[in-house]
Amino acid sequence: MTISNDLFERAQRLIPGGVNSPVRAFRSVGGAPFFVKSARGATLTTADDQELIDFVCTWGPAIHGHNHPVIKAAIAAALENGTSFGTPNPYEVEMAELIVQFFPSIQKVRMCNSGTEATMSAIRLARGFTRRDKIIKFAGCYHGHSDSLLIKAGSGALTHGSPDSAGVPASFAQETVVLPYNDRAALVEAFATYPEQISCVIIEPYCGNVGFIMPDAGYLSYLREITARHGTLLIFDEVMTGFRLARGGVQELESIVPDLTTLGKIIGGGLPVGAFGGRADIMDYLAPLGPVYQAGTLSGNPLAMAAGIAALKLLTELNPYAKLDALGRQMQDAVMEAAQAKGLPVQMPQRGAMFSIFFNASPVRDYTTALQSDAKLFARFFHACLDRGVYLAPSAYEAGFLSTAHAGAAIDRACEIFDQVIREL
Ligand SMILES: *Cc1c(COP(=O)(O)O)cnc(C)c1O
Repeated sequence: MTISNDLFERAQRLIPGGVNSPVRAFRSVGGAPFFVKSARGATLTTADDQELIDFVCTWGPAIHGHNHPVIKAAIAAALENGTSFGTPNPYEVEMAELIVQFFPSIQKVRMCNSGTEATMSAIRLARGFTRRDKIIKFAGCYHGHSDSLLIKAGSGALTHGSPDSAGVPASFAQETVVLPYNDRAALVEAFATYPEQISCVIIEPYCGNVGFIMPDAGYLSYLREITARHGTLLIFDEVMTGFRLARGGVQELESIVPDLTTLGKIIGGGLPVGAFGGRADIMDYLAPLGPVYQAGTLSGNPLAMAAGIAALKLLTELNPYAKLDALGRQMQDAVMEAAQAKGLPVQMPQRGAMFSIFFNASPVRDYTTALQSDAKLFARFFHACLDRGVYLAPSAYEAGFLSTAHAGAAIDRACEIFDQVIREL
């Protein structure tokens, strides 16, 4: 009996499924999850002292690697002064200044405690501002677990969506239209079907939650154009991509100006955080200035702000994006070379510090094509990598993440392991 297995047994008695977030339970790859007792750089150390090269990076935040000394010192310094005040604190102002500096589309920003809160609040704000109820989201894009957003496509492409979770009222689902990603015609049809009813379109501009998927050339600028034409707000959910692919997120890479942006993950430096911001005239609809209510006991928490500020300043200091992209390409080369040698159909989209390995003969461009990947083969690949000390996200439909700490030994070792594992699949 390993320590992890023992912990998992105890956890399952008291915590539903033994986990506090479902994908951690390994349901889609089989087997039992391992418990981690510490993490440093690119390495996780399990409760049983196995060392793993980590390509999950706490699902995105750890762009500087785990337990970075500068972030740790910033948290320790903030801790000296107290953990929460329930009043405004100086860190919040500095954080807002940093976010606004790197995201020119954001004129004002509100901090919250998770990406889920950020997207939920941004949607309420968009509805309040436009006085419209419907929203458009895209199949395969994940925006946290609030009711309006846990919706899947309905039976007809343009009917309203259906709840994607028990407990979400069908009447809520009626207000969410779910469209295929990368499909311009579907957008045109939706705006024609619901004229002047759509408050906002929310999108992961590069998808990271059904594996990593890039938009077709021109798709995002088309989305910007059609939303503007219909008085619909465009929300870029950059909880995952913000500060990860560029300091200014996908909107910087693609030169798009959304109306609202949601952030999280990296801006908390590993502590719980979220933020949403955008045009000042929209943001001023929030309480206490405006009629849209949104609040949080721990919002702008000094420890989370200190950690996030340190993480963002490190990004400015190091400007690691070219280096991260080179690491990503090194992995892509290793995986694709092994796959070709083996005659195995693999797609490996990669950009900067994000990638996916799909066992799929065709390019993955939306939810439907992602689901055509061979999930059973992925599960074998996942466990073979894990046995050799490489931890990938435990699902065929998740993105992988790199950190600056992967440079050098970790990436070289991981590439060797990918090569071996693929040839033996
Ligand atoms: C992770 C994620 C969220 C949800 O953030 P939580 O902090 O887990 O609530 C929302 N949107 C995107 C794009 C994400 O990747």
